[in-house]
Amino acid sequence: MRYIRVVRPDTGDWSTRHSVLTMARRAAALINALTGDRPAPATVADVLAAYGESVPDGLTAADIAEMRAAAVLLRDVFAAEHVDDAATALNRLLREHTGPLRLTSHDGGTPWHPHLDHDDDAPWGQWLLASSCMALTVLVWDRQRPPGRICSSPSCENVFINQGSGPERRYCSRRCATRERVAAHRRARQTREDDQNRR
Ligand SMILES: [Zn+2]
Repeated sequence: MRYIRVVRPDTGDWSTRHSVLTMARRAAALINALTGDRPAPATVADVLAAYGESVPDGLTAADIAEMRAAAVLLRDVFAAEHVDDAATALNRLLREHTGPLRLTSHDGGTPWHPHLDHDDDAPWGQWLLASSCMALTVLVWDRQRPPGRICSSPSCENVFINQGSGPERRYCSRRCATRERVAAHRRARQTREDDQNRR
């Protein structure tokens, strides 16, 4: 069971928390927290809390299993190199895994906003898939390019959201970018030394 914190429309909290970009970043952060061997429920709950979703009863093993299944499906969208492939991946998810588009105000607790899950109290896995599909779909519509990608570092599986109109990022973080630059530098030096030793 999910719980929605009541957000007053006039506090300014609403637009910050629910902007499409924030929802897309939340999707990426949750996918990353759910990828790997054994994601701890507390770690996933911390990510949810960081984005304003309260988890008073914590997450069960079943919640985590469902969310992991959703994360695996969502990675297809991030794997797309071209906007057409991202749209195809999203259309498949929308056709096979989400409900019809509807508006909800969570019984007056929030401003009206769109949902793709079947119910306001949908399980966490369904919520993750539906809310992520919603945000990624709007980003494709708005930008006409893939909404995100998978980190180019071979030792990293993280996904990330493409920012605005700047140059394409290849890595999820500065840390990955630096590690790969150092590795490329080492490989180049090794190749030069090998060439010299052969002479
Ligand atoms: Zn990375």
